[in-house]
Amino acid sequence: MHEPRDEGEVAADYQARHNAAALADHRAKMAEQTAAPSLEICEDCEDDIPAERRKKQPGCTRCVACQSLLERLKGGM
Ligand SMILES: [Zn+2]
Repeated sequence: MHEPRDEGEVAADYQARHNAAALADHRAKMAEQTAAPSLEICEDCEDDIPAERRKKQPGCTRCVACQSLLERLKGGM
């Protein structure tokens, strides 16, 4: 079993982990910024989109029914 004991190794290991965390954080923030705002009304059938769905699915523009229909169509035959 190899464990990094050397100070340099520990520092490199720490830095690598820190970088990965910082990168993940950065990506999450970018994704948040680029996500389109959720619509209150479905763009297909103009039904209300429940607030809970908008919270769970940031950027959603369709109600559950239209979205699942769309996904079924996209999913293939
Ligand atoms: Zn709809």
